[in-house]
Amino acid sequence: EMFGQLTSGLETAWNKLKGEEVLSKENIVEPMRDIRRALLEADVSLPVVRRFVQSVSDQAVGVGVIRGVRPDQQLVKIVHDELVQLMGGEVSELVFAKSGPTVILLAGLQGVGKTTVCAKLANYFKKQGKSCMLVAGDVYRPAAIDQLSILGKQVDVPVYTAGTDVKPSDIAKQGLEEAKKKKIDVVIVDTAGRLQIDKTMMDELKEVKRALNPTEVLLVVDAMTGQEAAALVTTFNLEIGITGAILTKLDGDSRGGAALSVKEVSGKPIKLVGRGERMEDLEPFYPDRMAGRILGMGDVLSFVEKAQEVMRKEDAEELQKKIMSAKFDFNDFLKQTRTVAKMGSVSRVIGMIPGMGKVTPSQIRDAEKNLQNMEAMIEAMTPEEREKPELLAESPVRRKRVALDSGKTEQQVSQLVAQLFQMRVRMKNLMGVMESGSLPTLSN
Ligand code: GDP
Repeated sequence: EMFGQLTSGLETAWNKLKGEEVLSKENIVEPMRDIRRALLEADVSLPVVRRFVQSVSDQAVGVGVIRGVRPDQQLVKIVHDELVQLMGGEVSELVFAKSGPTVILLAGLQGVGKTTVCAKLANYFKKQGKSCMLVAGDVYRPAAIDQLSILGKQVDVPVYTAGTDVKPSDIAKQGLEEAKKKKIDVVIVDTAGRLQIDKTMMDELKEVKRALNPTEVLLVVDAMTGQEAAALVTTFNLEIGITGAILTKLDGDSRGGAALSVKEVSGKPIKLVGRGERMEDLEPFYPDRMAGRILGMGDVLSFVEKAQEVMRKEDAEELQKKIMSAKFDFNDFLKQTRTVAKMGSVSRVIGMIPGMGKVTPSQIRDAEKNLQNMEAMIEAMTPEEREKPELLAESPVRRKRVALDSGKTEQQVSQLVAQLFQMRVRMKNLMGVMESGSLPTLSN
């Protein structure tokens, strides 16, 4: 079972929460220690583990209770989402050239599975209906050229070779010319691997990269090497500039450290993973599926997601009732702004709204600043004032106090109060229209 030890290590954490009612600062101490231990034993790099554990504890303490969901299940969900983020969030797709052949330059130390990856990749592209060509650029080992030729035959893809007397950058250039002539879609260039990083290898790689101007430069790393793989990705990226990594031998008994550390440590994504010796054993790296496999609790995850959805729906209905009765107050206002904050930065939220693509960075900064100001002012209000905004509307003395306590001007407070009443009116109008079933087109 892939990452089996990590999976059972994490299970210890959930088990400690059985019987608890809520997640609290106190009762997550032990489980967080288990999570930390499990990650370290999986050979995840220490700074990554620290950040991960910190982030999960912050979220666990702040999370609201969801009816019907146990605290251990909630923690599973938080850890899952954080694992997905750690591995880069979205799948990182291979990039293809806009015109001419897509050129993929492969680098990696000896024995990591680089030659195998060349052929697997060719096979992968062929299945997508793309024509492919391999270029044998490892001039130091005649055996490597032979191996590539054999694998090329196996997947029925041409292999460009020029023996061992030609410079790798020249072989690469010749291979690319040949591919252009033959109108090949994807050219995969193999390079020499060494047992360790050395200057000659790096210089040679730089030269090949210059000669090719590749679309993708991928470093092949072995999952069995754990966090060392992440360090290698960092070094290669700093030295030659790479676009991503391919993680091999995930079928072996690797502990997970590489898969979990590469993105966070190097800033570069894992784009593909090798999961066996057969030509078919290469697939895109999906952070969410990987996290799901690590936790081995697909049912719990979807259950918590559904419960969260129900909660959101109930929240929305509650809000709707308030709006209808014109009771929308500063507490709701605050909840709304915090929802925005929870969804990520304002810029991200704006980016998700269709037609809002052309907002300038300075407008976004203003909007973010604005939200912070609002929060500060609402926090300076008494609970009574938050529930009854009329109090503030009627009393300049109260507004002055809020201004002083929040460090804002009286004018800013007055504006905020006015804004709330405008929102009430606007929401009420909108709800009325929605009730009657027609929406007017808004004029500018
Ligand atoms: P290179 O020196 O980097 O070119 O490595 P090779 O491609 O020659 O592979 C070294 C060994 O690892 C070979 O025996 C491969 O069959 C094996 N190998 C490569 N990829 C994988 C993988 O994803 N899983 C497993 N189990 N073995 C692999």
